[in-house]
Amino acid sequence: MGPGLPEPAGGLPSFSLAGRCALVTGASGGLGEHFAQLLSAAGARVWLAARRVERLRSLECRLRAQQTQADSVAIDVTCAQSVAQAFDAMAAHGCVPDLVVNNAGIGLGTPALETPEHDWDRVVDTNLKGAWLVATESARRLVAAGLGGSIVNVASILGQRVQPAVAPYAASKAGLVHLTRALALEWARHGIRVNALCPGYIVTDINRDFLNSEPGDRLRRRIPQRRFGRACDLDGPLLLLASDAGRYMTGAVVAADGGHLVSGL
Ligand code: NAD
Repeated sequence: MGPGLPEPAGGLPSFSLAGRCALVTGASGGLGEHFAQLLSAAGARVWLAARRVERLRSLECRLRAQQTQADSVAIDVTCAQSVAQAFDAMAAHGCVPDLVVNNAGIGLGTPALETPEHDWDRVVDTNLKGAWLVATESARRLVAAGLGGSIVNVASILGQRVQPAVAPYAASKAGLVHLTRALALEWARHGIRVNALCPGYIVTDINRDFLNSEPGDRLRRRIPQRRFGRACDLDGPLLLLASDAGRYMTGAVVAADGGHLVSGL
């Protein structure tokens, strides 16, 4: 042990998020909605964030019906002013989130030569700049409050490998993976951990039709486990990175992909 470090508590690791305040961006559907439910079930007070706050109300009501603290806040992660206003709104309720899930993201499936500049900007602004804005706003406030925390950036296996027609998306997620490492290095001294979760192909409303199609089935057969993921396949990895169980993890890049990253070339 280094000087001044507390002895770790004995016994099994705790994945509990009791007493934590979590922010999930892009919580109005898909993985973000699932992540918010998971963090809430693990004991966190959860802030649901999306551009249109009215789309968060039904999830907020469902979480509150389970006796957990849940609130909604508007955020456009591509806009620094909107991000600052969201954190101001949480602060007005006495909340400085010490768990941030940078989940908001957009995909794009067009060949590079057919991708206009506007689409590059949209994807990179959301997936990379958006995560940067939310992470830095969060860390500034944690440092000012003398608090540590955990930031989980939802990247993708496409941040580590490529396939056709995803150039801006893959570049943005590769940038997010490296941003994760850079921030982890700078903020370890503040007790803020920054890690990346890289899902493989996970079935959500957005991609269900494609994944169930013939091209989707060809993709499935290239995954070593021969199946697409379900949102709940990400629960263990996310809770590990979020909770005290992962207290010695920072700058880590964790894939949950049925082995897709190690599929044969
Ligand atoms: P999704 O489209 O259902 O969810 C993305 C969410 O982000 C939406 O709620 C959307 O409204 C929100 N969002 C987009 N732009 C925003 C902005 N400017 N400000 C605030 N919110 C914004 O997709 P999903 O499949 O649930 O993906 C969630 C995350 O997981 C994304 O970052 C995605 O890249 C990543 N991911 C998904 C998969 C998968 O197979 N589903 C695989 C790897 C990574």
